Amino acid sequence: MSTAAANPSAPAPATDLPRAGGLSISKRVAEMKPSVTVAFMNRAKNMKAQGHDVLSFAAGEPDFDTPQVVKDAAIEALNKGMTKYMPTLGDPETKKVLAEKLLKENGIPTTADHIAISAGGKHSLYVACQCLFDFPAPGEAPQEGILPVPAWVSYAPIIEIAGGKVVEIQTDAAGDFKITPEQLKKAITHRTRAFFINSPSNPCGTMYTPAELKALAQVIAEAAKTTAPNLVVVSDELYEKIVYGGIEHFSIGSVPEIAERTLTINGLSKAYAMTGWRIGYAAGSGAFGKKLIDAMGVLQGQMTTNITSFTYPAIRTAITKTAAEVEKMRQAFAERAGVIHARLAKVPGFKCPKPTGAFYAFPDVSAHFGKTSPGGNGTAGRKINSAMDFCEALLAEQYVAFVPGEDFGGCGKNCARISFACSIDQINKGIDRVETFIAGLR
Ligand code: GLU
Repeated sequence: MSTAAANPSAPAPATDLPRAGGLSISKRVAEMKPSVTVAFMNRAKNMKAQGHDVLSFAAGEPDFDTPQVVKDAAIEALNKGMTKYMPTLGDPETKKVLAEKLLKENGIPTTADHIAISAGGKHSLYVACQCLFDFPAPGEAPQEGILPVPAWVSYAPIIEIAGGKVVEIQTDAAGDFKITPEQLKKAITHRTRAFFINSPSNPCGTMYTPAELKALAQVIAEAAKTTAPNLVVVSDELYEKIVYGGIEHFSIGSVPEIAERTLTINGLSKAYAMTGWRIGYAAGSGAFGKKLIDAMGVLQGQMTTNITSFTYPAIRTAITKTAAEVEKMRQAFAERAGVIHARLAKVPGFKCPKPTGAFYAFPDVSAHFGKTSPGGNGTAGRKINSAMDFCEALLAEQYVAFVPGEDFGGCGKNCARISFACSIDQINKGIDRVETFIAGLR
């Protein structure tokens, strides 16, 4: 007769009975921080739905509609019955279009076999981290993910849930929130598994120049020869099309010395106003790039299979047929960046570098810490000791939603993120309310 140990379906011995405390959530998820960007975006939406006159600058979401040709491509595919399972990483035709785009526009030496289409950039990042990081063996130090901060709030939790340890590199507003090659060199150890870079940056709204990225690539190439042979660069380029500060977007994965160890992540959400569609992709290069993408395919195959099948023609249309619409949106973001920068420069106590890419301003609001808000909209004034206090008070008393900067890491704790993917009229009204709020601080 089989024993309980040999037969997993046999009743558990008494010692394995559920412990006191009852039903629970896994520790790793119970301890995970909820996304503050998603939280403030949802709160603003809920308050609006309740009839409050909320001006939301919370969501990193273009206010434009998806270009009609893209919608039409999906509608046509749906009507044609393109409603069945597809290859996990995407249909070959769409992967080919993405590979050609990456080669032509970004100079990344990739092929259709090096592409993994996913349910959004966040999904690609999650899957990539699961494929890169190992959990430490007992007594072993964890593998490290180097993250310049402030960084988008989801990086750290995604690295940590994969078993990695986040090693932050600090930046500041005076340096446009950018790291130097020396800082990167110092941060790399034999435990470094991945280096994350996001240019244009969410939440900072600034960009690295091609020369700066090439200098960081040289540090990686050198470290890979000595200290960190297993080091991979994860380059998040979701905002590549939204640039307006005179700096050209550059893909670090195009640098030949590090192409094979670079995974480029991108998606359709921001450039093509397709946030709700949930479409992202990752691209590798060379033998290791193929190995990594194949591993991502194994995980995605156990996780999501393919993304919504009838969106594939829409992806191809977005990539190849919307240049005019993308340019129009870029120009609108450029104009808004100019307006918000000029307005923020006059807000007492705010310090904010000029946005050069993406659609975020990230002012330092810490000059107001230690003050008390005036109260408003039926709520009492409150003590402001943090960016979170500042944003909570602003939302409650003025119905203006910014995202508090703490969870972006580093000096983000002194900042508030403003997404200016909204009309100029809303920007002006919102900053008027901020000025009223600040004038009432005591
Ligand atoms: N990426 C956007 C943002 O930062 C959407 C929400 C999220 O995924 O964090 O606001």
